[in-house]
Amino acid sequence: MILQGVSVCPGCTLSRSYLLAEPPAFDLAKKADEPVADALRRIDEAFASIAAELTASKEEYAAAGACEQADLMDVQMAMLEDSFFRDQITAAAEAGLAPSAAVLSSGKEQEDMLLALNDDYMSARAEDIHDLSLRIACQIEGLARPDLSGLTEDCVVIAKQLLPSTLMSAKVEHIKGLVIGNGTKTSHVSILASGLQIPTVVGCGNVSMVKEGETVYLDGEKGTLCCAMSAEELAACEKELNAFRKQRETLLTYGTRSFESRDGVKSGLYMNITDPCELLRPADCTNDGVGLFRSEFLFLDRKTLPSEEEQYEAYAQAAKALGGRPLTIRTIDIGGDKNAPALALPQEENPFMGYRAVRICMDRSDLILTQLRAILRAAVHGDIRVMFPMIATVSELDVMLDYLKLAASQLTKENISHRADIKVGIMVEIPSAVIMLDQLLARIDFVSIGSNDLVQYTFAADRLNEKVSYLNKFMHPAVLRLIHQTVSVTREHGKECSLCGEMAGDRVGLAALAILGLRKFSMSSSKLLRAKRLMSMLDLGALRSLQEPLLHARDAEEAVALLKQSLPGEYFGA
Ligand code: PEP
Ligand code: MG
Repeated sequence: MILQGVSVCPGCTLSRSYLLAEPPAFDLAKKADEPVADALRRIDEAFASIAAELTASKEEYAAAGACEQADLMDVQMAMLEDSFFRDQITAAAEAGLAPSAAVLSSGKEQEDMLLALNDDYMSARAEDIHDLSLRIACQIEGLARPDLSGLTEDCVVIAKQLLPSTLMSAKVEHIKGLVIGNGTKTSHVSILASGLQIPTVVGCGNVSMVKEGETVYLDGEKGTLCCAMSAEELAACEKELNAFRKQRETLLTYGTRSFESRDGVKSGLYMNITDPCELLRPADCTNDGVGLFRSEFLFLDRKTLPSEEEQYEAYAQAAKALGGRPLTIRTIDIGGDKNAPALALPQEENPFMGYRAVRICMDRSDLILTQLRAILRAAVHGDIRVMFPMIATVSELDVMLDYLKLAASQLTKENISHRADIKVGIMVEIPSAVIMLDQLLARIDFVSIGSNDLVQYTFAADRLNEKVSYLNKFMHPAVLRLIHQTVSVTREHGKECSLCGEMAGDRVGLAALAILGLRKFSMSSSKLLRAKRLMSMLDLGALRSLQEPLLHARDAEEAVALLKQSLPGEYFGA
């Protein structure tokens, strides 16, 4: 039997299943059988002991460089310290509810409020509140929570619902795969699993079909789980697993090779990161540095903005970890699908067309100046570059450049150590920037093409809207022409051009970009090895003749077909 879900983290695994027990059931209306003062004291004690657990875990995770886990401890601590949540619980206890019921019913009110917003991000926050209130309630009642800390053998964990704290209780080296019946790609537990590189599938519904201890086969890339397998099905899965392992072994041999085509054309290979901690993990692939640090991730999931000092620490840590290789920091790109509660931005009808990135910074000098000061200060520790996202006009760029000058002059006046001569660039992700590129380039050192947004703005099609996903095609000649124009004009001006959207790490996208003349690619670190292997199969001299046909194809399908006819068959199996 095959259960189909949504892929969160790729990788294949064949292992025995471990069914996670469900959390204890609580009566949310249970009345207290003790004086209110005693109930409040027991709540206080539970809060104090959970706070101590969170602090200890955070320190442990931070010391081990496990940044996602450490961040999650911060999120739960902020919720624990939220005075509104605490007042709600106190009021419920004073109204006569038993302590655990007071905590859970208050948590439920907040969860329901967040779930009613019908937004993936808010649903994930509801899950965090549920996790925390359950944790407090179990502490009060002295009950065990669903727990993975006892795992001693390798397994695929199967859970109807998995809370972040439960995953963190495990020795993750034993978790060879994760299958969660409910849950979304953007929930915290999904982000954690991805960060831990555990093959994971979510949202595959009826996981109660899986039996405890049976052999299951998880394909994290396809988003499938095979269970109740016949001997033939098991043999087929073993074959698939062997093929996956061989492919992985081959890829690992590319780790230290240079990023060059079969005919010796060298290109730059850079990483996209969201957190400096990613640079502390052992790398399986050499690379040229960071082409995109999505700095807005420092601003999400928190109630207050990160201070200049906190940002400085994060940027300096990343610069030092890179040992002189470039670190391209993109200034905050909040808005669209990324919400920073600390900015309290109003909800918009068309968030991707609205108030986003530099458009917010134009009104919020405090925000951008704090960030630019932190970047210039950290630049003494390495080759830091600054990049402005969503630039649509020359005037917007001029405002950002003025802020950069102002930040530098403030630091000079305050006698604070910094570097003012860092390289400056923009994201090219709005068609107007391609049209005005000559004037923009006169003011900057480099551009990086944001193909994810360039596609959505070229076709006026929301990148998250399934109904218009047929327009979300980076291989369409309309997009290829914009990219080609950007690469050519940048080269004519003697400036640098890279691409940091998903297209760079895509098999077909990589070949098309190399044919269009791009020589700098930035992608998530999980894609680097494959990119090296793919590039080594391309004969770029011979493929040059494909440039014009690609630019003049009728549509994306024709452009892809042209590539498929011209590239070696093994390219599509690698
Ligand atoms: C892009 O738009 O291609 C890009 C890299 O930025 P983001 O996906 O963060 O918008
Ligand atoms: Mg973008």
